[in-house]
Amino acid sequence: MSLMNKTGLYIHVPFCGSKCNYCDFNSYVGKMDLAEEYFACMKKEIDLYRDEMALNKIGTIFIGGGTPTCVEPRFIGEILNECREKYHVSEPCEITIESNPGTINEEKLKEYGQYGINRISIGLQAYQENLLKYLGRRHTAGEFVSSVEMAKKAGFDNINADIIFGIPGQTLKDWKDTLSVLTDLGVTHISAYDLKVEEGTRFGDMRDTGKLIEMEDELDREMYHYAIEYLKQQGFNHYELSNFAKEGCECRHNLIYWNCLEYLGLGAGAHSFLQDIRFENQATIEGYIEYLSKGQKPVEERYVRDFCEKMSEYMFLGLRLIDGVSREKFEDRFNQNIFDAYAAKIDRLKKKQLIETDDKSIRLTQLGLDLANQVFVEFV
Ligand code: SF4
Repeated sequence: MSLMNKTGLYIHVPFCGSKCNYCDFNSYVGKMDLAEEYFACMKKEIDLYRDEMALNKIGTIFIGGGTPTCVEPRFIGEILNECREKYHVSEPCEITIESNPGTINEEKLKEYGQYGINRISIGLQAYQENLLKYLGRRHTAGEFVSSVEMAKKAGFDNINADIIFGIPGQTLKDWKDTLSVLTDLGVTHISAYDLKVEEGTRFGDMRDTGKLIEMEDELDREMYHYAIEYLKQQGFNHYELSNFAKEGCECRHNLIYWNCLEYLGLGAGAHSFLQDIRFENQATIEGYIEYLSKGQKPVEERYVRDFCEKMSEYMFLGLRLIDGVSREKFEDRFNQNIFDAYAAKIDRLKKKQLIETDDKSIRLTQLGLDLANQVFVEFV
């Protein structure tokens, strides 16, 4: 299935059982009583995009959060039905649901399968109980293992695990153990993120008051390099800065973002990129419901980008991919040679050994993978 001419659909489920200490996602605790109304509003939102989506073929659907598996599965089923009724959803279509251990059981997983969900992402973050507690996670490592086993039993053969390195107190051994548990369990995709301590999170407050000291760069990089090497040996393709997949199991939905293809985001705070315009929904659940109760699209921000901004965006998203930005695709899209557009920047980054080029593409070097932000800021 090629991604060309395929649109992604993102469905945001902003409910969570508790807030993790590092979390800056658009998620809310203690608002589950709004779920019924929230999904009823989402059906209205689906209808409001019927015209814009009339010619689009949906190739991937990603149900993200929050914790989509903490709401009743029927809500998810109804939303997927509505999308199939009102839009053109291709067959086959990659349909992912994000989940957390402790919020899924065999029955729910079976139901998701019946709705056509064929990929599941499970948040582990770390395999050590002390680190899970420190991160503010609600589950145990054992619950993660049983979640993967239940998912396999329910027929899921495409399973992602999210993990984090760079956690204060995490040792290299902890990290190695986490990775080896995942490869032993046979997951097909791993997203390994470097912990970023963000303002406005509990960890952000702890850092500001001196209660959290970030991991030293050297150990953080050692963990990243180890993951790249180890996962390669285990047959994973490192295809994006933080993402590793067994052959054919790359996340097609995320590839849509990195390749600057179109997607529609539904739900509170969801982002979209349709008909060359980027826009963003109202972030709060209540605000989202209010817009739709009045029959209005819940769009809060629209971003008008000029030609240069569109090229820059294409560069800093595409450079996240290990294969980098294809010179031919760039030229097809912008009618301009990538070297004419960015001669000075490319030259500067090459001199710093952060990128490499050949007649096909421009991509990050090993050093560039470590210092990717220095590359991206050149294009922002
Ligand atoms: S489960 Fe995910 S979305 Fe929910 S609070 Fe934790 S990190 Fe945030």
